[in-house]
Amino acid sequence: MGNTTKNYSTEKDRWQALLNRDSESVSKFFYAVKTTGIYCHPNCSSRLPNRKNVEFFDSREEAEKAGYRACKRCKPQSISQQTAIEQKIIMACRSIEASEAHLKLEDLAKEAGLSPYHFHRQFKKIVGLTPKQYSLSHTSKRFEQRLKTDESVTEAIYSAGYSSSSGAYSKQHDRLAMKPKVYRKGAEGVTITYGIAECFLGWIIVAATEIGVCAIEFDDDPNALAPMVQNRFPKALLQKAGPDFTGLIKDVVQFIRQPDKARHIPLDIQGTAFQQQVWNVLRQIKPGHTLSYTEVAEKIGKPEAVRAVATACASNKIGVLIPCHRVITKDGRISGYRWGVDRKKQLLEREKKAADKA
Ligand SMILES: [Zn+2]
Repeated sequence: MGNTTKNYSTEKDRWQALLNRDSESVSKFFYAVKTTGIYCHPNCSSRLPNRKNVEFFDSREEAEKAGYRACKRCKPQSISQQTAIEQKIIMACRSIEASEAHLKLEDLAKEAGLSPYHFHRQFKKIVGLTPKQYSLSHTSKRFEQRLKTDESVTEAIYSAGYSSSSGAYSKQHDRLAMKPKVYRKGAEGVTITYGIAECFLGWIIVAATEIGVCAIEFDDDPNALAPMVQNRFPKALLQKAGPDFTGLIKDVVQFIRQPDKARHIPLDIQGTAFQQQVWNVLRQIKPGHTLSYTEVAEKIGKPEAVRAVATACASNKIGVLIPCHRVITKDGRISGYRWGVDRKKQLLEREKKAADKA
């Protein structure tokens, strides 16, 4: 392996990638089989064709122009496998964000269905931090927030996921530049930065802490949005963002428009353990799909908690990015949505259409 990026420019390299079912070669080229008339991703799991029947193409368009049809198994015409990997990495970020304990690289990789090496490499490439660094930044943020509640400092240290208090003090030192007790005593609320934009759902507010997006709300009246966020975080200091926030807003709006195109948007998820469990399940519902409240309750192993699940969905602060709109009633009705049933309908219709087209 190593760090060199292969470019698969020769037929020999490409054939070797096929032999290896090399997932890193995916989307870099396609192969087609003359005898079947079908083209595939290089790591397709179908039977390895005879070398003399194989033709290589730089793009799927070229393969199709040459008269080949897309393989039904590896679906080279739909979302690329690179996008699929990006989605897996984003799911891993969500797991890290929601987890109280430190998650092992092996476990995260296994959940994503990638080797630890490949997972680590892709994670770094997409997120810009290693899984460990990402996890540390979140543990650290949770720690600061625990200090603001009425727990003792020692409890805060343990419940934030640090193993020993001395470790916490030294790790916190750079970020807080003061001892936890001092921070706790003088701690004002968190600063939340926000920006407002327009999207197909009307006006949207994107609000973020230094860790990530903590609230997304929609309304027909742009002036109603900031108070909605303040309501969610009564003690926080709300601050209108400067131009450096534009990129994040753009990413969010783009994500809402095309939820199947993965993007890394860091989230700062605040909620009880139960709510986080529910939201975790929601994040696993793919665009174009829905679950009923009952199914979500079953998935978290609490089939009797249907009502509590509905409440957890309703208390989701991060609209669309945590897709509570993908939960409907058992008989298929599009019921309650914090931001209006019409918006929920629009979202679901759009996502269904896009999924059918793919
Ligand atoms: Zn295939």
